[in-house]
Amino acid sequence: MIQHIHTPVRIRVGVGEMTCTVCGEVTNQAYCMRCNEEADVQGNNYAQVAAKRGRMVPTVSYLRDGEYEVVG
Ligand SMILES: [Zn+2]
Repeated sequence: MIQHIHTPVRIRVGVGEMTCTVCGEVTNQAYCMRCNEEADVQGNNYAQVAAKRGRMVPTVSYLRDGEYEVVG
């Protein structure tokens, strides 16, 4: 009898990696550089805007245990 071996593809997530809920960009910054460029604002200011709008979420926050591996 052949056993089913579950080998999920693991997503590689950087330490402290954040995902933009608007465009899907991932970054280690507190703001999305892609949206930052489109909005044409400076990083620190945009970080505050992004935080208020809840655009950035930790990548691991929407992944299940075993779906990802943290890489340095
Ligand atoms: Zn973005």
